[in-house]
Amino acid sequence: MTTSPRHPQSNPDDPAAGPPHLPMRPLWGCGGCQAEWPCPAARHALLAEYRNDRTALRVYLGALMAEAAEQLAQVQPHTTADLHRRFLRWV
Ligand SMILES: [Zn+2]
Repeated sequence: MTTSPRHPQSNPDDPAAGPPHLPMRPLWGCGGCQAEWPCPAARHALLAEYRNDRTALRVYLGALMAEAAEQLAQVQPHTTADLHRRFLRWV
């Protein structure tokens, strides 16, 4: 019996395929879809990953928000006002 190795192929019907939806510092755009991070796909993934510990997700996002605020203040000061809504209101 022979088994040929499977090479991972990107499947356009698979929402998990394609580039990961991770923040690109220091502008905090999404590396997967270029939307502001966390984009809807990133939010969906985070909610799934932290579905049993929403408090940990808020702590994690709070830390990322602080990091984003610091970095964005230097490159795009006008975008920092809305960071709380962007990072934490949806959790
Ligand atoms: Zn994205």
